[in-house]
Amino acid sequence: MPWKKAAEMETTMKDTNCIFCKIANGEIPSRTLYEDERYRVILDLGPATKGHALVLPKEHFASIYEIPEDWAAGAVKIGQQIAVRMKERLHTDGVNLVQNNGEAAGQTVPHFHLHVIPRYQNDGQHILWKPGKASDAELDEIVEAMK
Ligand code: 5GP
Ligand code: ZN
Repeated sequence: MPWKKAAEMETTMKDTNCIFCKIANGEIPSRTLYEDERYRVILDLGPATKGHALVLPKEHFASIYEIPEDWAAGAVKIGQQIAVRMKERLHTDGVNLVQNNGEAAGQTVPHFHLHVIPRYQNDGQHILWKPGKASDAELDEIVEAMK
């Protein structure tokens, strides 16, 4: 599609005061499940469920609007690998991959991160949304606006 790529919308900058930059690059210690040249996967300190992990790029991109496509794709690929390993090793029953962007969407740390939230039968969490309603006119309007 001839759409603008996310990374063309805004230029990215290194953020020396960003806590996730420091964690991802090992300046602040963390419980690390996986690491390579581009990413570090850590355990979330306020886990939604047992094993809740975060995939952090080692470069600073504030959100999905800034991160280059290949970095976003790489984060999802690692999230998938972590989810599969959690199924084997932690005997999880399911997983939510969650990725918040902007305050309105619940993002609290402005450094792109992908949540890998393992799920267990009756774990008491509620990560799904309350279904709403939309008129035909509204649905048509959105399709038109997105062309
Ligand atoms: P967000 O709300 O931005 O999508 O997610 C931020 C996540 O980062 C939260 O789940 C929160 O518990 C986690 N978090 C915040 N600060 C730290 C930290 O210093 N270390 C770790 N491991 N997780 C953190
Ligand atoms: Zn950062």
